[in-house]
Amino acid sequence: MKNLLRLLALVAVCSSLAIAATTPAAPAVDKSKFKTGGCCDKAEKGGKPCAHPCCVKAAKDSKVCEKCNPVAKDAPAPAKDAPATK
Ligand SMILES: [Zn+2]
Ligand SMILES: [Zn+2]
Repeated sequence: MKNLLRLLALVAVCSSLAIAATTPAAPAVDKSKFKTGGCCDKAEKGGKPCAHPCCVKAAKDSKVCEKCNPVAKDAPAPAKDAPATK
């Protein structure tokens, strides 16, 4: 009888874990906005969030610190005139 109780407990734990796994997590920071070689980029590569107070504050709002990761003004990858269809 005790085995049955243990089994039930196990099932309960498993189902609660499954529910936890399916619930959406907090919105992740858009890491693609990290400035390459910047403080946040380096920290991310080191496996931990940037420790700068300004970056920590931004991360709490699921944002990327604009002070340390300024948005590049120039357009990304200049689109070269692609050769016409061959
Ligand atoms: Zn940073
Ligand atoms: Zn910052």
